Amino acid sequence: SNTLMAGKRGLIMGLANDKSIAWGIAKALADAGAELAFSYQGEALLKRVGPLAAQLGSDIVLPCDVGNEASIDGLFDALKERWGELDFIVHAIGFSDKNELRGRYVETSRANFTLSMDISVYSFTAVMQRAEKMMKPGSSAVTLTYYGAERVMPHYNVMGVAKAALEASVRYLAEDLGKDGIRVNSISAGPIKTLAASGIGDFRYIMKWNEYNSPLRRNVTTEDVGRSALYLLSDLGSGVTGENLHVDAGYHVVGMKAVDAPDI
Ligand code: NAD
Repeated sequence: SNTLMAGKRGLIMGLANDKSIAWGIAKALADAGAELAFSYQGEALLKRVGPLAAQLGSDIVLPCDVGNEASIDGLFDALKERWGELDFIVHAIGFSDKNELRGRYVETSRANFTLSMDISVYSFTAVMQRAEKMMKPGSSAVTLTYYGAERVMPHYNVMGVAKAALEASVRYLAEDLGKDGIRVNSISAGPIKTLAASGIGDFRYIMKWNEYNSPLRRNVTTEDVGRSALYLLSDLGSGVTGENLHVDAGYHVVGMKAVDAPDI
């Protein structure tokens, strides 16, 4: 443990269970002395998120559906009442109809395109709109993205398009909020077996491919992502904004399947 986040308070959005990337990040932040609040989507998740929050010493567990403006306002009103100020935000939320996370991108429906962009892209901007009012200079926000934004990955489809837009919005938010000393970055995580990932077609094959072909010859864990989020959210990242940090065992630098990589 360390004291990188001592005296800092922040909100974790997107915790569903102990496999969630949000959980790896929350553990790293709590271990560094941060005080945490959690938001969850839908009553069903409260029975999982409540005990996990308690495990990290937090009793601030608030509902928020990011598809609903009033729900986002409710979350930030409650946080403002409880804390007044906020030092960091983790946005680990994405959604798309899993029937469209297989097969051909060209078949994407208008309804699911709109929904995926709304929940996976706009929600981060909507959250930062409220958060900036509670943030002092030195505050920091992180969202989660994937390499499918930069290159075509099998089955990622409309989520790739959404993540590209999310990464672009990180750059615009970094410029807007940078004037107030607030930093905004994304982490491009390698594939990790979570609830959301289980909706993606052939996900196990994608995991194996990354394991065999990344420079580190392994997949990343939610703890790996947590440690990098700690860097971006703490003062260690004080000069970094608008950045997309790849936490993917180096996969994104590789141009060709390695000669020693096994066939899958
Ligand atoms: P997860 O299923 O544990 O988390 C996804 C979260 O999004 C859940 O907590 C869910 O409740 C929340 N969510 C969905 N719709 C919502 C809504 N309308 N309002 C509020 N919350 C909502 O899966 P995860 O893999 O930890 O996903 C976290 C983030 O990481 C996502 O943005 C995902 O795209 C991204 N990511 C995941 C991987 C991976 O391989 N797992 C890789 C790169 C990026």
